[in-house]
Formats: sequence, structure tokens, C-alpha cells
Amino acid sequence: MLMVSAPIVGIPEKAALSEVIDSGWLTMGDRVLAFEQAFANLHGAEDCVAVGSCTAALHLILHALDIGPGDEVLVPALTFVATSNAVLYVNATPVFVDIESADVPLMSIAEAEARCSPRTKAIILVHFAGYLADRDAWQAFAARRGLLLIEDAAHAPGLKEVGTYGVAAAFSFYGNKNMTTAEGGAVIARDPALRDRIRLARGHGMSSGTHQRLNSRTPTYDVTMLGFNYRLDEMRAAIGLVQLQGLLEWNEIRRILTVLYRRLIAQHCPTVAVPFSEPRTSAYHIMPVILPENVQRQDVIDRLRTHGVQTTIHYPPVHEMTLYRARFPDIHLPKTEAFSQRELTIPLHPEITSKMVEAVVAALAASINLPHYGSVA
Ligand SMILES: *Cc1c(COP(=O)(O)O)cnc(C)c1O
Repeated sequence: MLMVSAPIVGIPEKAALSEVIDSGWLTMGDRVLAFEQAFANLHGAEDCVAVGSCTAALHLILHALDIGPGDEVLVPALTFVATSNAVLYVNATPVFVDIESADVPLMSIAEAEARCSPRTKAIILVHFAGYLADRDAWQAFAARRGLLLIEDAAHAPGLKEVGTYGVAAAFSFYGNKNMTTAEGGAVIARDPALRDRIRLARGHGMSSGTHQRLNSRTPTYDVTMLGFNYRLDEMRAAIGLVQLQGLLEWNEIRRILTVLYRRLIAQHCPTVAVPFSEPRTSAYHIMPVILPENVQRQDVIDRLRTHGVQTTIHYPPVHEMTLYRARFPDIHLPKTEAFSQRELTIPLHPEITSKMVEAVVAALAASINLPHYGSVA
């Protein structure tokens, strides 16, 4: 089965893990610090905070910004549920915003404007599929409205622009992302005071960590705030240091494969649309396509599976999840809902070859152009 995504891990990661085990120091040590430095450098940032997941990163950002009860945060519904869950963790209210269009399935500024209220405090942008939101326009909007701009950059690691939109950006190193530590995440926050608050809250609000106490004369510590255990361990950091060496090259392979997909789909599946038809900076996290209206998506999924091609959906809209429906029953986002109903994500990762891309497109063409549906060819 050709998978939608696959982690690239092997001998270097195994070697890095062995070294950590031999070192006898398993969490929050030199490797976490080295990983933070390397990840920050790659994004032109001074420093960053490594954490256990992107979910933790988003929670820590909202917590450090003092967003809480009574505050509203603008979020897309075309995202992973973690984006809006983080808003609920701090007892604030997520306000779902529709996408621009099926071609640009990013949060719409016009819709965001319409959903602003005096209680709106922040915006969480998602660089859907790796394609960057319009920085100038969002910065102008945020400035005009006095809102904090936060990036959920889970899909877009490795791009210089990411982490420069607003106050902070959250990254994910989950197993299906552009680079992985199995589980893991990071926060880039350029204001050192904000970064310090996030770093403190990551480890129980403790004034010093175990590693620092080892190297200091006073083995005591203080707790200055109610923090969390959102630490990253040395094993994950060691894997991350190896993965960082591949990230930019892998993103480039993703780009080349995406260009090929676009050309072949236009040629062989002209009724299938590929979002982001205009050039836009991207980390090419996933390959979303929009199926024509006259086909049943489940049939296409089943047929692709018989051709050995796995597919997924990005995303079932968050506001339609049972948890959110119960809390926010009256929300309708027509463009998000229409996009989500016709979207299909086809395999894209750096171990895919151009031959495999050809095979996926051929299987897609065969799966939608069956006589049963009236061939469009
Ligand atoms: C994967 C993902 C997350 C969550 O990342 P974790 O590291 O698994 O917590 C958040 N937002 C988006 C857009 C994601 O794709």
C-alpha cells in the first residue's frame, strides 16, 4: 500500500538513540538545547522552546499570552482539532472562520473581519497543506483590530517566513509531518519575555530544571506559576537533530512531486481540481485534490485502495465534530463544508518516486472515469 505519508527514519536515528541511552541522561539535557538551537537557526530565530507536541505548543502560547475566559480566538474549521482544542484548554472561545475558496482553502480575512467582536483577542492561522497564509494582509488586519497573531505551523516547518507573522508559531514533529521526532513540537516566539514564560510553563513553572541543578551549587528550586509537563526528552531531540539535516531537502522533493502531480492531474484527470493553482510559498505537507461533484468519494477511496493507494481527508471540519456541535450548534461554514466533502488527500512524501506519482494519477483517473458515472473523457 502506498501511504499518504511516511516517516523517513533509519540507521542515523537508531545510532542517535543508542548514544542517548549510553549517555545515561534521558530528558531535557544537551540534546534538547542543541535541537532548540538548530530548529531556531533554520527559521532565522534566536531561540525556540522544544515541547512534547504541537498541541502543547499551542496551549503554552495561549497560556503565556494570558488568553482565557471571555476571550474569543479566530480559528479555521479546516484544520486538525488540536488548533481549536488549545483555545478550549484555556477556557476561551474558538470562533470558527470560513475559508477563502476551494482554490485557496485558507482562513478568509473578510470572514474573519465579519466574526470579530469586542471580545476577540487573537487569531490562529493554519498554513493549510503547507501553503503560507498571506502575511502582509493578516498583519495589517491584526494591527487594525489590535489582535494577537499566532501561527499553527504544523504543516510548514523549514520555511523562513514561518514564525515571523505574529507573536508565536507552533510546530509539530508527529510521525506524519514533514519531519518527525515520533511525538514532539516547538514554539518559536521572538519576544524573549514571552519565550521565557513559555519555557517556564513547559516544566511545571520550576525556576530550574534537573539538568541545571546538576551543574549548580544550590540544588533547590522554586515554583513561580502553575505550569505543565510539556517537556521533550533527549531521545526525541536526538532524532530531531538527525531529521533537521534532511528537512529542507525533503521539502524540495515534496515540491518537485507536487509540480509533477499538478501537471499529470491536469492532463489525465481534468475534472479533478488541485487547490492553490496560483504559485504560493509552501512546505508541501500534503497533496489535497478536489473531486468532481458527479462522483461518490467513498467509491473513489475504495477503488484507489484496490490499486494499492491509501487516501485520507483533510479535514472533516472541526465545527462538525460531536464535541463542537454540542458546544457550538449553530455554526455553518458553507465553503469549508463544501471543500471538506469533496477533498481527498493522495500520497505525498519524500520516498515517493515520479513513477509512483504516475501510478497514483493513473489509478485516480481510472477510479473517477468509470462508465458507471458517465465518463467525462
Ligand atoms: C498535526 C497537527 C497538530 C497537532 O500536532 P501534535 O504534534 O500531534 O500535537 C496541530 N495542528 C495541525 C494543523 C496539525 O496538522
